Amino acid sequence: MKQLVLVGGGHSHAIALKMYYDNPIKNVKITLINEVKKTPYSGMLPAHIAGYYNFHQTHINLEKLAQKTNSNLMVDQVIDINPTQQKVYCLSGNTIKYDLLSIDIGSTPDDSQIKGAKEYAIRAKPVPTLLEKWEAIINDLNNNPNQNITLNIIGGGAGGVELALNMHKRLTDIVTAKQVNINIINRGQVLLNSHNIRASKLFNNLLEKKDINIILETEIVEICSDKVITKKGNIIKGDYTFLVTNASPASWLKNTGLSIDKKGFILVKNTLQTLSHDNIFATGDIATIKDNPSPKAGVFAVRQGKPLYNNWRLLLEGKSLNSYYPQSFYLSLIGTGDKKAVAIWGNCAYLSKVFWYLKDYIDKKFMEQFSS
Ligand SMILES: Cc1cc2nc3c(=O)[nH]c(=O)nc-3n(C[C@H](O)[C@H](O)[C@H](O)COP(=O)(O)OP(=O)(O)OC[C@H]3O[C@@H](n4cnc5c(N)ncnc54)[C@H](O)[C@@H]3O)c2cc1C
Repeated sequence: MKQLVLVGGGHSHAIALKMYYDNPIKNVKITLINEVKKTPYSGMLPAHIAGYYNFHQTHINLEKLAQKTNSNLMVDQVIDINPTQQKVYCLSGNTIKYDLLSIDIGSTPDDSQIKGAKEYAIRAKPVPTLLEKWEAIINDLNNNPNQNITLNIIGGGAGGVELALNMHKRLTDIVTAKQVNINIINRGQVLLNSHNIRASKLFNNLLEKKDINIILETEIVEICSDKVITKKGNIIKGDYTFLVTNASPASWLKNTGLSIDKKGFILVKNTLQTLSHDNIFATGDIATIKDNPSPKAGVFAVRQGKPLYNNWRLLLEGKSLNSYYPQSFYLSLIGTGDKKAVAIWGNCAYLSKVFWYLKDYIDKKFMEQFSS
């Protein structure tokens, strides 16, 4: 019996496990190691924060998936891998031996250049901590509805902007719009700089309409309990600071001997095998396909689930593996917190209620496959 060990229960692993359930591979025992029993689906996370979906609608139940596939779920945090000895080390002290390893642990916002971030910032990931802190803020506001509240959101990419709009919606369900002050602070000259300029202008207008302050070309160098400090020494007051900066990899990976790029992400071939070890796969945010790098977005992690499963099977059957090529154009649907969404495709960007219903349909359909 071959031991297939899955590190992280991200989007690709959830899809691959679902495929394994539909079409099991012979003589394989799967062990899934994840920090939590329920992993968030990124597409629905901002709308969960806005209050449109509940926790269960937006989280994949890994425990159930493990039961169905007769896999072993270990709720633990992986802290090291030894590819020579083929061992995985966990925070609890457990060591797991593998024949085949697959890594899908996502990423976290980069806080390496910001003093005080570890102590005072609420990072967009890990999601369980974000949700715990967000619920505490909401409870506090519900208990003291006369207070004003100011949020600083560092990072003006799609994640930061979507969070700002959805947080604004939830907060203004409790208190008046005048009591809510949200600042989006972005290092770059424009918001959503990895999308087209139409999308950027559209979101500028939407944020301005809701009196959300857009602070551009501003780098934050320090976060304190009640303010953030810019590189130029300016102070921006805030009760809570959220960090939604660029994706960064887990730091322990650099000591494992796995092939990594300059930023520390795992370098993989188009077969999704690491450049360094044929018996180790990596997918989702944590992996960078050397010859076809793609943005760190859930949509790519989802798409990699099927080729990942197929290549596990082919490798275990001793056959040659298939290559996966990420699509260069993809549809982004970004919710605006008011049951509308912006659709971004190539050079186009449109806001409409129809796109919210399309997004809602796609996301619910995605989650449906894990519900039975
Ligand atoms: C606010 C926000 C909104 C977003 N909205 C979208 C969107 O609408 N569309 C989109 O395409 N992308 C979106 N993204 C990006 C998206 O979240 C990521 O690209 C996606 O989650 C990556 O999926 P993954 O499978 O790589 O990892 P993840 O979904 O992050 O899953 C990783 C899993 O591994 C676990 N894990 C991590 N480290 C360890 C460890 N050491 N040991 C054990 N388990 C571990 C985690 O607990 C988690 O369950 C958004 C991001 C943010 C921050």
